[in-house]
Amino acid sequence: MDIGVLTVVAAGVTVLALVAWFRVVSRYGERDGRGLRMVGAIAVSLLAITAGSFEAAHAARQRLATEAVAVLTDVPGARADCERFSEELFNASQYQGYVYYDGSHVAHLRRTVCHDLWGYAHGGQARPTDGQIIAVHIVAHEAQHINGITSEAEAECRAVQLNHLIAEALGATPEEARELQRRYYAEFYPNQRSAYASAACTAGGDLDIFGDRVEFP
Ligand SMILES: [Zn+2]
Repeated sequence: MDIGVLTVVAAGVTVLALVAWFRVVSRYGERDGRGLRMVGAIAVSLLAITAGSFEAAHAARQRLATEAVAVLTDVPGARADCERFSEELFNASQYQGYVYYDGSHVAHLRRTVCHDLWGYAHGGQARPTDGQIIAVHIVAHEAQHINGITSEAEAECRAVQLNHLIAEALGATPEEARELQRRYYAEFYPNQRSAYASAACTAGGDLDIFGDRVEFP
């Protein structure tokens, strides 16, 4: 199970809320301080509901990201791990996502990537933001590492050719998905760091995974 600071906070304030309501009920006969106990219980309950809904939203984003990863890998147990707010505070890394190179099946995704992926799946398909396009692509890229591909250029180029499948799984029409793919290759791929971008990532190039075709990617 994925337990973070927020999980502990949500569980803690829920317990506090239950205790507060128990005190309201068990001491209801005492007029002294009754109103205060009531106000306290309501306040702690609102905190518990807020923390609980943030926790539930994190869990929902992570489930969606895991479904997206699974589109491009058959590795059993492949899943996504969405960065939590508390982790983001201490993460100075420039990477948007990574997979440990030890046969790991977990795609670690930056918090913004999971948020953008969620936004894409919930209405972003027709006119995705730059962040949403990149988020869909990053999931495709990390799935290649889960598949055992360690070369960044190869993982990136395979993702360039397969990212539309994730877009479709997230609710895009085939045309919208192909448009996302085309835009990533035209607008973002050329700006990738040299270890990622390759001249072989073109029609008929060494990294082209679909032999006979007229259009790339
Ligand atoms: Zn990579």
